[in-house]
Amino acid sequence: MTDERRSISIRGADYSNVMERVGACSYELPDAHIITDAPRCNESDTRTASYVPPPLYYSRWKRWGDTWECNSCLFAEATCGDLKLCVKFAINLEKKPPPDPDSSFYDTPAVVAHVAVAQSFLDEYQFYQDHLQELQGTLVPRHYGVWRFKSTWGGVVLLSILEWAGSPSYPVFFKTLANEDTTEHRIACIQAVSELHERGISHGQLMGFSNMRHVLFNIETGTVRLVDFTTSSAAHQCPRPNFPAQDGNPDDPGCCNEVASIARGVQYYTYVPRESSFYFPETLYLLVSSK
Ligand SMILES: [Zn+2]
Repeated sequence: MTDERRSISIRGADYSNVMERVGACSYELPDAHIITDAPRCNESDTRTASYVPPPLYYSRWKRWGDTWECNSCLFAEATCGDLKLCVKFAINLEKKPPPDPDSSFYDTPAVVAHVAVAQSFLDEYQFYQDHLQELQGTLVPRHYGVWRFKSTWGGVVLLSILEWAGSPSYPVFFKTLANEDTTEHRIACIQAVSELHERGISHGQLMGFSNMRHVLFNIETGTVRLVDFTTSSAAHQCPRPNFPAQDGNPDDPGCCNEVASIARGVQYYTYVPRESSFYFPETLYLLVSSK
């Protein structure tokens, strides 16, 4: 623990708590109080890349880690003064979920899911400290550390607090920006992964659940940031980080697999810019569009 403390309140829960930071951190939260939205959760049975889960009711999320065992953390947007944040929660950490009655072994594993999630906060923070210091604020969000408090509603709570970095790029490109998406947006995603690889880091969880994950796009600034380094490696010897070059051969992505997977995820190789894909000569357009 450190002496650094902040108060926190979560919309939907009528309590404020004082939290303290676990371990040293390069960045300081600018205000004494954090306010978070109601948490959301990417439950594994509903998780897809094109789906942003809705905020949960208090009666639901407070059972996370207790009677609701889950492999994914709770998360919410938050503010601290003028700073916009993303907060990840693991709660009820002192509780041991009951054994699953449907399990043939009727056992609870030694490390249960919600405890594993909390450990991943500490591991990821260490990865930020060891390998992502120079990239914070540019390619990855700033990490404001891991915090802890004890609550009446969710037992022992561990929080991982990061700078807000944007929205999942897949739904942004294919839904929110459907009419104003550009090739530059998509190339920015590939370049972000390429830059990570040039620094010897492979992310490990960029594809799955129907499309790319953990690649965030900020609509206001047009910037891409990468998040969730819980299974990343800093010992990646990249064969070819440079993008692109498919050269017409679908079996040769022209670059390292993870970089190529994002190029496929943003449909770079098959993408036709909107401005040219529906072009009609004017006389033909009048013919097609007239009733
Ligand atoms: Zn690589």
